[in-house]
Amino acid sequence: MITVEHLTKRYGEVTAVDDISFTLGEGHIYGFLGPNGAGKSTTMNIMTGCLAATAGTVTIDGCDIFEDARAAKQRIGYLPEIPPLYTDETPEEYLHFVAEAKGVAKRDITAEIARVLEETRLTDMAGRLIRNLSKGYRQRVGIAQALLGNPPYIILDEPTVGLDPLQIIEIRDLIRDLGQKHTVILSSHILSEVQAICESVLIIAHGKLVAFDTPENLEKTLAANNRLAIEADGDEAAARAVLDGLGAVSSYTVQPAAAPARTEAPAPRTRADLTLAGDADAAARAVFTAFAAADLPLLQMTPIRADLENIFIELTEAEPAAPEVPEAPEQPEQEGTDHESSV
Ligand code: ADP
Ligand code: MG
Repeated sequence: MITVEHLTKRYGEVTAVDDISFTLGEGHIYGFLGPNGAGKSTTMNIMTGCLAATAGTVTIDGCDIFEDARAAKQRIGYLPEIPPLYTDETPEEYLHFVAEAKGVAKRDITAEIARVLEETRLTDMAGRLIRNLSKGYRQRVGIAQALLGNPPYIILDEPTVGLDPLQIIEIRDLIRDLGQKHTVILSSHILSEVQAICESVLIIAHGKLVAFDTPENLEKTLAANNRLAIEADGDEAAARAVLDGLGAVSSYTVQPAAAPARTEAPAPRTRADLTLAGDADAAARAVFTAFAAADLPLLQMTPIRADLENIFIELTEAEPAAPEVPEAPEQPEQEGTDHESSV
């Protein structure tokens, strides 16, 4: 179990990590998700004992990463954002050097290197110079060194960054395999990647932990089913007149909608994106009835699904919270527009 409590890291005025707490169990693939500059690498560098914290504690299976560094570090394999590879060596030579530095027993080194080469599917490349390997293979060498000594926790900082699409698929497959035997913690700024590989997601923004859940639960709980897109006969003013009097609608945006191309003498119609108050079904019925009563038939009525991407954008684009605000994930106010930007 990895326990992080009230972890904070300041660089002068910059608070890179701001009072983060979480607990990670075993046999799971966790993803740190957040935009560049969110504090992912800083958190990982502290968790692995490579960087001192300003405040807070990290324990690995009960061993404090600073007080009991040797025991704690033995339980972790780390691939930093920029792994220090010696490119004039072969993977075999490099892994030998790292194995000695990690204190792997001399008699075990050969077998241990063979094991990690196998696990990272590098056996055929073991004798080539690292500098002649593709970026994907070099990344595997970085992962292989993290696996030396067979630590239960493997921490990988942006393991697919800079790789081409095929290499990304291969590294993701490899990480899934590693997840069978190790607890894997990886970071990424790419939502789809974390969604594809990880069983739990920690969303980090502005140095704070803003959400921690399974991808499915994040979608379910944060994407409360409270938005509805409608299209109705009538102009914007007519739609506003109906919506303004409706308690079931807490906010909305309206815009003119185009009639289908072949409609003769098209009458004005309006699209509105609604944020509903209270029970979503009851609110939808109230909307339907109100438009019917105003003789403005609804032509379309569609729930707006907030997918994980929208949630991620909302959580990470929110202004940095004031220090006294609790870090529990909250659903920010929704604007009427759909988010289409990617991360
Ligand atoms: P991420 O890995 O999520 O992209 P980082 O942990 O690298 O984020 O950085 C978090 C914040 O801390 C950023 O604002 C970054 O500029 C700042 N930062 C990181 N390292 C240093 C450093 N050595 N000195 C000053 N500021 C730093
Ligand atoms: Mg980083």
